[in-house]
Amino acid sequence: MVTNLLKCRLSGETLARAVVRLAILLIVLGNARAALSQQNAAEEAAARRAVLARLPPDAAKRVFGSATTPAPGPADAIGTFTKGCLAGAVELPADGPNWQVMRPSRNRAWGHPLTIGFIEKLAAAGAGLGWPGLLVGDIGQPRGGPMLTGHSSHQMGLDADLWLTPMPEQRLAPAERDEMRAADVVAESGDDIDPQRWRPEHRKLIEAAAHEPGVDRIFVNPAIKRELCREAGREAAADHGWLRLIRPWWGHNYHFHTRLGCPGGDPECHNPVPPPPPGDGCGKELDWWFTPEAKHPEPGPERKPLRVADLPARCAALAPPHGP
Ligand SMILES: [Zn+2]
Repeated sequence: MVTNLLKCRLSGETLARAVVRLAILLIVLGNARAALSQQNAAEEAAARRAVLARLPPDAAKRVFGSATTPAPGPADAIGTFTKGCLAGAVELPADGPNWQVMRPSRNRAWGHPLTIGFIEKLAAAGAGLGWPGLLVGDIGQPRGGPMLTGHSSHQMGLDADLWLTPMPEQRLAPAERDEMRAADVVAESGDDIDPQRWRPEHRKLIEAAAHEPGVDRIFVNPAIKRELCREAGREAAADHGWLRLIRPWWGHNYHFHTRLGCPGGDPECHNPVPPPPPGDGCGKELDWWFTPEAKHPEPGPERKPLRVADLPARCAALAPPHGP
């Protein structure tokens, strides 16, 4: 079950810590099947209250989680994906010709202009491939930074969660976007996709995303990577270089997570994660994800929350007002 529940807890935070945090969250929610990106408005609010109750005044996630407007100035990603912030963020409009922003009450549709452009372009490209439109999950906060719930990355406005649920034909009301559950495309065992829900267009969409310029990597559930490898393996003549950017990670069974690399014009942006190793990542490296060690990791001690002062100095300067 752990594999179905962990969402977007990427490099910089160990799995063990993620498990402990997740356990706390699940106790709070009393809902063992609630995955983080799945939380509706009431569940999200309860989780935020629980986190806020135990955070110091200068906890970075408390401070950046309170931002309602972007920091002025030109777009600038500062720091790292798991310890950073964003100036000059742009908000993805709630509706576009080929997308709808989900969970609007979270106010997390902010990102680097390059990320917003990437999503708009992918939405249009997906429509041409038979994907009816993107349901866009969390991108980032108005000033980036750590979030009260759900992610350890997404801090520089370069990460975005895109639902694996096809967009419905109708425009959803804001309340519907806060309540609607995403489809889990992974089988209960965690070993494979759910053939009832997985479509050929899922692969086309993810492949199209991997071909977009500037993409550093894309995180998907290991079972999804396994399926993508299988499908690509049936097309021996094709170029499968894109599979290298598709990285298995826990969770990511309701959405896939796209990450752009540091923009060339943002000198304080640092990507500490090495590029994916050569090859398609479909061999032994992928097999590990289906071992008991990977599927049932040992919990470890919880890490102290980041303080504003732990972030780069420019992030402290653009943080909303806060206590000591
Ligand atoms: Zn994510």
